[in-house]
Amino acid sequence: MRIAILSTGDELTTGRTLDTNANYIADQLLAIGYEVTTMMTVGDYPERIIAAWRNLFSQADVIISTGGIGPTADDLTTETVAKVAGVELVHDQATAERIRAMFQSMGRTMPENNLKQALFPAGATILRNDLGTAPGFRIEIATEHGPRIGFIMPGVPREMKHIMAEEVLPWLRSKRPDTHEYRSHTFQTFGISESALDETVAGVLDPETTRLAFRAAFPQISVRVSVHGPPEVVEGQLADAAAKIRESLGEYCYGEGDTDMESEVGRRLTEAGATIAFAESCTGGLIGHRLTNVPGSSAYVLGGVVAYKNEVKHAVLNVANNTLEKHGAVSREVVEEMAQGVRTLTGATYGLATSGIAGPGGGLPDKPVGTVCIALARDGATFSHQYQLWGNREWVKVLTSQVALDWVRRATLGHDPTQSSVLRK
Ligand code: AMP
Ligand code: MG
Repeated sequence: MRIAILSTGDELTTGRTLDTNANYIADQLLAIGYEVTTMMTVGDYPERIIAAWRNLFSQADVIISTGGIGPTADDLTTETVAKVAGVELVHDQATAERIRAMFQSMGRTMPENNLKQALFPAGATILRNDLGTAPGFRIEIATEHGPRIGFIMPGVPREMKHIMAEEVLPWLRSKRPDTHEYRSHTFQTFGISESALDETVAGVLDPETTRLAFRAAFPQISVRVSVHGPPEVVEGQLADAAAKIRESLGEYCYGEGDTDMESEVGRRLTEAGATIAFAESCTGGLIGHRLTNVPGSSAYVLGGVVAYKNEVKHAVLNVANNTLEKHGAVSREVVEEMAQGVRTLTGATYGLATSGIAGPGGGLPDKPVGTVCIALARDGATFSHQYQLWGNREWVKVLTSQVALDWVRRATLGHDPTQSSVLRK
């Protein structure tokens, strides 16, 4: 079954709103084993919506549409779909009463234009919307290419997700011709490029039964392995495939499932019974922010210092003035003393420090924008490294925090943290 997604709304075509609906729907479909063949976006113009539907009839058996079924004049999807299907709009009394009751329960009278949402193309099946006034509908349309199914849902993401889960996905699952099931498992990686990842895992899996999908939300790249097979073997197939991927990813994989670097660092610190403190210059508290976003982080986060000025690095973290003068604030020598300083100050297992030039100004001939030093101090050893990062100010900060957190992860595994790599996109 070929499936297309159609997103409608001027807010999408003008770039004011990101089309997260299509993204969500495609992801949900993939999880139950359906691949989307086409995604299309159109503004709120009847002729463009008609052209989109006609075009998609030739490309897909099922068209999932969101947007344009609200009460206002620019909501044109319902009447346009009726036109494309060649049927009249009919009034649904039960929907009208539900909408009226929703307004009453909020102590308001219903504006008459809301009754528009009780109109449906003749023959459509109404899809309940428990979270809003506009229900969706499913309609069968006879076309020159054969019978087609349209699912029409509101654009409001919360309502769309609800109707997807309650109506669309169950319907699609029931139409699946085989009894095979889909299972998938996700690996989170850092420090390896998408193409290098592809090479690393190439040939490891059987392409007949398994599929790999990469998703880059830099600096994080996730790899999802999916298997398709009879229910009695599918779990075993997934476990096999996941084991192979796990082995080939090795140290680049920092977590599995729906997780992120800060959660994984927290998990490993907890397991090790270790604690952490940070001394941040160029990251300005971002590392502390990320670590403390994780619930339960008070078990291992002791605290930190945003030591931006040299005076603070010296006065609070005990960085020697001589080191600052001789090597400059962005140097391995200074971050080492910062890491040791904050560790001494707090008594943490790990002291983590950053200092760098985030830009756009402040670059020097020998230390251009993007020069970043990271240090990690633990009992008996202090590691440090100077990186040349890239991108704008925010980017440099985010990337620095990611590398620094990866250092802690590697250290808790007993590895040399300086082996963590960053890669140019
Ligand atoms: P509508 O159902 O067209 O009235 O859309 C209602 C609201 O939902 C819009 O104002 C947007 O904020 C949001 N919305 C509509 N379509 C999308 C989409 N494809 N992705 C994300 N948000 C959307
Ligand atoms: Mg709209």
